[in-house]
Amino acid sequence: MDKFVLRLDKAINEIRDADYILIGAGAGFSAAAGIEYSGKRFDDNFQDFIKKYGVKDMYSATFYPYETQEEKWAHWARHVYVNRYSVGKTKLYGQLLDLVKDKDYFVLTTNVEHQFWINGFEDERIFATQGDYGMMQCAKACHDKLYSNEELVFKAIESTDDCKIPSELVPVCPVCGGNMEINVRKDNFFVENEKWHEMAENYSRFLGKINEEDKLVLLELGVGFNTPVIIRYPFEQMTYNNPNVSLIRLNRSHSQAIPENKDKTISFDEDLSEIFDYWCGRI
Ligand SMILES: [Zn+2]
Repeated sequence: MDKFVLRLDKAINEIRDADYILIGAGAGFSAAAGIEYSGKRFDDNFQDFIKKYGVKDMYSATFYPYETQEEKWAHWARHVYVNRYSVGKTKLYGQLLDLVKDKDYFVLTTNVEHQFWINGFEDERIFATQGDYGMMQCAKACHDKLYSNEELVFKAIESTDDCKIPSELVPVCPVCGGNMEINVRKDNFFVENEKWHEMAENYSRFLGKINEEDKLVLLELGVGFNTPVIIRYPFEQMTYNNPNVSLIRLNRSHSQAIPENKDKTISFDEDLSEIFDYWCGRI
């Protein structure tokens, strides 16, 4: 029997025996679910922006210094539409829910595409630390309220012309009259609203109820080194600190365990769909 199957079986047994499961999901998980920021999806949806600005992929394009708000919002509306409003349920997120739904689980994620909600994970069990593509905030964070951008996005994608939206569609802060931004963490002006603090409390409460003798499985999915202090390093620390914690790490390019956790980590650099197909056939 090959080692891949042995690891798969070992991991599914860990998941089955767990008292608690803490999921940590990063960009690699959404990419594996089909929300890829480069390649065909990018080429198909951003031809006009590629021609005009030479942008290379969806992630770096969000940092492009557009000179006007009309261009900035034409781009953001397209980006948010393509990755948030037009996606719907995805197979991989659905399989993850099937795997954990009868367990006491919690999701910690840096992903901002709203996929955990779209796929039916319980609201009280999700902490999306880095924001949500569906929300806007004051660019200077003059107040801590968030606003849905759904109407704006749909109007904007309909009326984008030459990579610009009409000036009357450009959103302005209802308090200071300044510019607005998508609510994703990229500078010190990121707004953590009431809901964000509620999610943070739910996460603390989840961790707080786990006793030392309880078996906690950390399921780390596609978390790289972009913001490792949010999921990857804390998961390694938790694994190291407690004998009843084990780590299952799925990552196409950085799946290795730290040496100290070698015996408590099961690593996979294989295709995530293949892994979840196998696991879901065994629950
Ligand atoms: Zn403002």
